[in-house]
Amino acid sequence: MSAQVKEQVAKENKELLAKGITPGLAVILVGNDPASRVYVNNKKKACEFVGFKSEEFALPATTTQEELLSLVEELNERRDINGILCQLPLPKGLDENAVIEAISPLKDVDAFHKQNVGRIMIGDYDFLPCTPAGIMEMLRAYDIDADGKNCVVIGRSNIVGKPMGMLLLHENGTVTICHSHTKNLSEITSKADILVAAIGKAKFVTADMVKDGAVVIDVGMNRDENGKLCGDVDFENVKEKCSYITPVPGGVGPMTIATLMKNTLKAAKLQNNL
Ligand code: NAP
Repeated sequence: MSAQVKEQVAKENKELLAKGITPGLAVILVGNDPASRVYVNNKKKACEFVGFKSEEFALPATTTQEELLSLVEELNERRDINGILCQLPLPKGLDENAVIEAISPLKDVDAFHKQNVGRIMIGDYDFLPCTPAGIMEMLRAYDIDADGKNCVVIGRSNIVGKPMGMLLLHENGTVTICHSHTKNLSEITSKADILVAAIGKAKFVTADMVKDGAVVIDVGMNRDENGKLCGDVDFENVKEKCSYITPVPGGVGPMTIATLMKNTLKAAKLQNNL
């Protein structure tokens, strides 16, 4: 599916290229977190695939807030850069919110800026955050309708859990968002028709927490006891019980990147009045 989305973006991008417009994505990476490095490389590869220009700004962990904000300002002004993203988390001492708010909402292809978040709340938006939007696209592609379903999201982060809940609500799901203070979590999850796990804990969701026939979406990216990449869901056991399940790796991650390409294309179109 992610390949199909990227192919569609590449196709639409040809129209822009023919007009002399090459969409540009700037990716800021501060410090040397190995996982962030992998994500940034994957984003770069996707840009190459669809025909965008990608520019990477790899800054040392010692970068100051002022230096980071001044780079964002510079990128906001550049006409050849249509999308700006700053890979999170930032090293300690840097203010993530200040950086997100400094990115022009028109170039905020992650849709983390409060102006874009507010627009998502009321259902009138240009950009959706890449992970939840990629998940909604997967559900649509498999004809999984959230309308009237019990949808449970575990996790309430600004980048995954909260917007995920909002998008399911927009599709008329009956949404419950769980977090670390939730009581009787298994009781709630085992009633879910659609269960989204965005926790960050390896194999946290076990088969007894899942309803028979449920749709299970695993956002987590963790390392198991052998250092192998795994999700928040105990895939091997849960897969026997559910109707659909996304694997890790190879599920939500690639769809997130494909959606980033869609958002960057849209940003380039909007900025060129197309
Ligand atoms: P996060 O900001 O750390 O949020 C984790 C959420 O899980 C929090 O809301 C936390 O509750 C909740 N939680 C933690 N322990 C819990 C427990 N025992 N019971 C119930 N809820 C619990 O993480 P995130 O940024 O949303 O990311 C979540 C995972 O998705 C991570 O593994 C991350 O690497 C991965 N991720 C993957 C992609 C992708 O493209 N595939 C994109 C983004 C993130 P509190 O709020 O109460 O602390």
